Amino acid sequence: MTTQPPIYELSSPGRVGVDLPALPEDGRELADLLPATELRDDLPLPEVSQIDVVRHYVRLSQKNFSIDTDMYPLGSCTMKYNPKVNELTGRLPGLAAVHPLQADEQVQGCLELLSGLEEMIGEIAGFPAVSLQPAAGAQGEFVGMMLIRAQQLRREDVRMKVLIPASAHGTNPATASMCGYESVSIPNGPDGEVDIEAVRAAMGPDVAAVMMTVPNTLGLFESRIQEVCDLAHAAGALVYCDGANMNAMLGRVRPGNLGIDVMHLNLHKTFSTPHGGGGPGAGALCASAELDPYLPVPRVVEGPDGGFARSSDFPHSIGRIQGHMGNFGNLVRAYTYIRSLGAEGLREIADIAVLNANYLRVKLQDVYDLPHDRICMHEVVFSGRRQKAHGVRTLDIAKRLIDFGFHPPTVYFPLIVEEALMIEPTETESRETLDRFIAAMRTIAAEVETDPQRSLDAPLSTPVGRLDEATAARKPDLRYVPPA
Ligand SMILES: *Cc1c(COP(=O)(O)O)cnc(C)c1O
Repeated sequence: MTTQPPIYELSSPGRVGVDLPALPEDGRELADLLPATELRDDLPLPEVSQIDVVRHYVRLSQKNFSIDTDMYPLGSCTMKYNPKVNELTGRLPGLAAVHPLQADEQVQGCLELLSGLEEMIGEIAGFPAVSLQPAAGAQGEFVGMMLIRAQQLRREDVRMKVLIPASAHGTNPATASMCGYESVSIPNGPDGEVDIEAVRAAMGPDVAAVMMTVPNTLGLFESRIQEVCDLAHAAGALVYCDGANMNAMLGRVRPGNLGIDVMHLNLHKTFSTPHGGGGPGAGALCASAELDPYLPVPRVVEGPDGGFARSSDFPHSIGRIQGHMGNFGNLVRAYTYIRSLGAEGLREIADIAVLNANYLRVKLQDVYDLPHDRICMHEVVFSGRRQKAHGVRTLDIAKRLIDFGFHPPTVYFPLIVEEALMIEPTETESRETLDRFIAAMRTIAAEVETDPQRSLDAPLSTPVGRLDEATAARKPDLRYVPPA
């Protein structure tokens, strides 16, 4: 296959891609119309035709994998399809072109949308208070733990420890230490759930909170979560729930009803708003009535004459955590998503997300090792132990999957599973796509036994093969340097 060379190498003097507007007839020159700083003779811009430019950018876009390309089963990340209607509302000028410093009277619709979304999220998760400000799941955790700390400090009840199961998301211990706490790791039992006796043993007057990821990172529902809440509350501690993956529980479980005190939901996962490549995100934070006074400001409140207003008049608030009201564009998309599905539609999401993950579990468990042979929630965690015996690691399987057109699943997480392969299909994939994915995974498993080198050499179909991923992420070399 031959492909078009880099755009700079196609440059030919005098070739043009667009007709610029003619200069005015009053005799003014370009230098009179543009500031001097914008007029540079030394920019090495290529001189190319329009079709060359179009092909250049379309080709670049095709080198990028996205959910619009194929299935993206990255476990714990809920890479579900973002319906295009979300983008339509996200671009409505009245929502997209407002400025956060406009007066409340001018942005009543936006404030109403925020208030409505807070109410819907509260209803879905079972909490009386919601803040839409956190810009990511991890920031939601941080703010949630700050609320706990603020309440305990106000009561002069100083507690330094946070209990975190080994199956919690990695951001949980990071959050605890960001808030100045010492995290205490609690083991999981043989069934994959938190060891309740270990929670009981570690509980005490020095424990500020327990941070539970539900479903946990093994993709399992923590069926003793209410017991954990009871143990914590009896000891004067609170319970944080990492609800980033509410996908499995929508319309089926309201965590607030289980006794959880504070919890975040990743709108950019469960509620379909686009994510990847580092953002933007929205980590809505839900709080109990006791923690409500500490939520960040400004908050949307009822205005003086009936409408909506923003208020910072909350004396116990932990303060501001964002410049303004959060990632508003994401919030518009989440609002659209919830309103377009309704309660029935949301429940169906949870049902199909769980069904899809279990379909993969059953169809692959004879070829990949399954550490916890039981019904999973929105994702299934396999182990690549069997393939490792042939010299092929989980990373190699992930790389080989790229050759079949799929994004790799999450690998080596959770840490408590050897050679972990964490697969989350989401409810947006059809039976046909799941079958195609299963076929690819089975082909790779068979190939590992007969021709392991293929997986070790993969990917074989991409412009570049294996990169030093840490360097590629930290010191990306993205600039094309034209030949001298
Ligand atoms: C994704 C995720 C997070 C972190 O969310 P970010 O928006 O990436 O900060 C935290 N916990 C769980 C369980 C997650 O899946």
